Amino acid sequence: MRAYIASWRRTEVERSARTVRPTDLRTGRPVWFGSRRAVRIERCRTSSRARERDLQRVATKRRHRRDDRSDGSAVMTISFPDPAPIDIQIERQVDQAILDGWPLPRWGWAIPGPYQGSTGAERVLGWQKMRIAEMMGLLERRLECSGCGAQAHHRHQEIYQRSLFCPAVCRSCHYRIHKRFMRPLEWSEFLQREVLEQSWLWCLPEDPLNRAEALRIAASTDLLTALQLHASDRKADRKDRP
Ligand SMILES: [Zn+2]
Repeated sequence: MRAYIASWRRTEVERSARTVRPTDLRTGRPVWFGSRRAVRIERCRTSSRARERDLQRVATKRRHRRDDRSDGSAVMTISFPDPAPIDIQIERQVDQAILDGWPLPRWGWAIPGPYQGSTGAERVLGWQKMRIAEMMGLLERRLECSGCGAQAHHRHQEIYQRSLFCPAVCRSCHYRIHKRFMRPLEWSEFLQREVLEQSWLWCLPEDPLNRAEALRIAASTDLLTALQLHASDRKADRKDRP
């Protein structure tokens, strides 16, 4: 019995230590739980907390929006004599829009891995420029895939230094393009079986490019021919190897 009373007392003490009694803000005295005054004070407190949370949320949103706004560092550096290739002309317009304050669209996924000598951050920037170009109506709204002729849902960017060269592709072709280095046999079978004869997919190199190679290809006026030349050079190299 004594032990029971002791444990009851202990729990009572712990409970009172844990609970925070609402206090009357005017008098500073504790208010009884359940009384009208306590309820009113509690309601007032929660609403002020909610208000604070709302204010914080708005501030965070504003900060994000400000971060999305570019300071011009997103502008490209490769220069071409006029008349520049069509994708470069589009990129110039997009760059100008960014300099004029067009906010960079929010990338809502994880930063992707490197591809063809470009870093994940550069790939995100390439995607952002492509989205701006789409929003500005600078890219043609092609609905069929440039690989197989099916309905297209994506655009593929091969060289991110020329990110506005982004032909429309279907999901299946896009997936295979990105997996071609890991599955070269599947890729060549896919080319033979499904890809249209005149498609640019035939120009794609079968090995990944390093940064120097990508930059060299990006600097040429005819991007596809440069890609094709590079691909055939690599093929010849492979054949010459013992
Ligand atoms: Zn396709």
